[in-house]
Amino acid sequence: VRTNVVTGSASGIGKATKELLVERGQRVIGVDIANADVCVDLSTVDGRSRLVDEVRDLSGGSVDAVFAIAGLATPTPSTVAVNYFGTVATLEGLRPLLAQSPAPRAVLVSSMAALFPPDEALLDALLAGDESAALARAVQLAENPDTGGLIYGTAKRALSRWVRRTAPRPEWAGASIPLNAIAPGVVLTPMTADLTASDEARQQLAQLVPMPLNGFFEPRDAAELLVWLASEQNAHLCGQIIYIDGGSDAVMRGDSV
Ligand code: NAD
Repeated sequence: VRTNVVTGSASGIGKATKELLVERGQRVIGVDIANADVCVDLSTVDGRSRLVDEVRDLSGGSVDAVFAIAGLATPTPSTVAVNYFGTVATLEGLRPLLAQSPAPRAVLVSSMAALFPPDEALLDALLAGDESAALARAVQLAENPDTGGLIYGTAKRALSRWVRRTAPRPEWAGASIPLNAIAPGVVLTPMTADLTASDEARQQLAQLVPMPLNGFFEPRDAAELLVWLASEQNAHLCGQIIYIDGGSDAVMRGDSV
């Protein structure tokens, strides 16, 4: 039985992932701010280190797969703290426990929003790993409704870049730990509930996020892909960002491959 750590396990894609793993007879250590096996706030340094300590205790020191899914979509500095620094800290912090597994795997959730033009100053601070500079820039962006919306996509772009840069390294690929990401289009979870509440809202969102193949979808469909990426069957994907987005990447990025 594989032991899986799932962050964001209380809602949406994380909850669907936890349920799918349990249905398949696997063990899950759920992590979330509340209603989980490990309740921590991933926006804080203390929460991130408690995550590692508590998972070490609960798992007995070995973890087979880490699913870093927890995230926020508010135009606030917290989105930077959770989506980028919380995710990186989850993966880096649990890597020594993964290294104890005979078949370790790691996966995170980026977004098709990583394709939107980023705020360059925030992106630079994120890629430099400078949390205080990133939070200071996010505070500036959040002050203006026209720029607050850049925070989420920029944090996700940084996360996608982090996967590309990190996955081939000796600590990951060199230690036989595949590290990959999914980048969903619009998934019907509490995060997007307001954006999909009326026909008008759905049409507006579909303009921004074109999904010609089957449109918005259920979290279970994202969970199926995550579970495969974290399974023993996946031994050769390294640093891939799989767009599960009904075609928004194909439409928006077109020929740039
Ligand atoms: P959700 O709001 O249903 O679930 C997110 C979970 O993360 C919640 O349970 C929440 O409590 C947890 N979380 C938030 N802040 C936290 C913190 N500080 N500490 C610990 N846990 C925290 O949203 P979802 O749609 O399931 O999103 C999951 C992931 O998928 C996120 O990273 C999101 O950015 C990404 N994503 C979602 C969509 C979408 O359309 N829903 C699209 C692309 C990417």
